[in-house]
Amino acid sequence: MTRIFNFSAGPAVLPEEVLHQAQDELLDWHSSGMSVMEMSHRGKEFIAIAEKAEADLRALMNIPANYKVLFLQDGASAQFAMVPMNLLRGKKSADYINTGEWSKKAIKEAKKFCGVNVAATAEPTNFTTAPPQKDWKLDPDAAYVHYTPNETIGGVEFSFVPQTGSVPLVADMSSTILSRPVDVTKFALIYAGAQKNIGPAGLTIVIVREDLLGQALPGTPSMFDYKIHADNGSMYNTPPTYAWYIAGLVFEMLLKKGGLKAMGEVNQHKAGKLYAYIDSTGGFYKNPVEKHSRSWMNVPFTLKDAALDEPFLKGTKAAGLVQLKGHRSVGGMRASIYNAMPEAGVDALIAYMRNFMKQQG
Ligand SMILES: *Cc1c(COP(=O)(O)O)cnc(C)c1O
Repeated sequence: MTRIFNFSAGPAVLPEEVLHQAQDELLDWHSSGMSVMEMSHRGKEFIAIAEKAEADLRALMNIPANYKVLFLQDGASAQFAMVPMNLLRGKKSADYINTGEWSKKAIKEAKKFCGVNVAATAEPTNFTTAPPQKDWKLDPDAAYVHYTPNETIGGVEFSFVPQTGSVPLVADMSSTILSRPVDVTKFALIYAGAQKNIGPAGLTIVIVREDLLGQALPGTPSMFDYKIHADNGSMYNTPPTYAWYIAGLVFEMLLKKGGLKAMGEVNQHKAGKLYAYIDSTGGFYKNPVEKHSRSWMNVPFTLKDAALDEPFLKGTKAAGLVQLKGHRSVGGMRASIYNAMPEAGVDALIAYMRNFMKQQG
């Protein structure tokens, strides 16, 4: 068996030890005689798995007791609608920060439910910066402020948590959750699709402050109402049980490895190495993002001539590197280096890039 270095932006690489454990437990979980996939979500075995996963996530992120943790489906994209449906609470508009493709999608969806005030946009820089808070025009009457701490496609990440006073702060953390410590108390709601930095696709985590629940728009379908999910322990209907289980294995492993502080140090080091190499190539490779807004998780880069893209990609598979082609909207390359990408993968990528550049003379 050969494992390849997979730089996919999502679904993405999972920790090898977690996959091994899942394999060991596949046919018979803890002498239950069943696979987790076959268990009733209301049986005592799965309840134990579910509760441990939540407890471990709470420990990892230091989530206070007055926040609910929901294990939902439908991806982060459903949250683009669920956030306004649940958090408008009689208000007419919400503030959004536009830093790229995912922000734009969140804004487009919110406009179906409320007025959207784009309080800051990185569009004038072609989405290569996270706008500093001094440039934001927040509305004190906004229902909430929504931003995307890490833009997965553009590779733009906020190096600060915005201050929004008494206006609830909402974050789409899909591609940065668990990458470093975060002060949950600064947020009213955090959501993340699991397939970037948590586990398999099909699971979406929502962490929401309790006092915001119970005020969904009239007519909100039950499946889109946080309160209904919260009151039912995310088991109003059948949850994505297997993805929940794998996420739990990931949480357990991260705790064993020293938690998010340790992860943050590793991630900063891995990303720092790759950016330092890119910057050292005199423009042969280029990352367009302003230094203080560079993502630790997604590193887009272009080659000095787009005609080199194809030959560059051609050799990657043989070097044991896959999924480096950039997003269709930006071109070039993108290396996603989530928690589960070992440093050896970053080293192998840099070695390949160095070799390729040498071949070009
Ligand atoms: C991937 C991604 C999404 C969309 O996630 P789905 O689970 O496919 O709906 C939304 N926001 C960000 C920041 C992402 O990286």
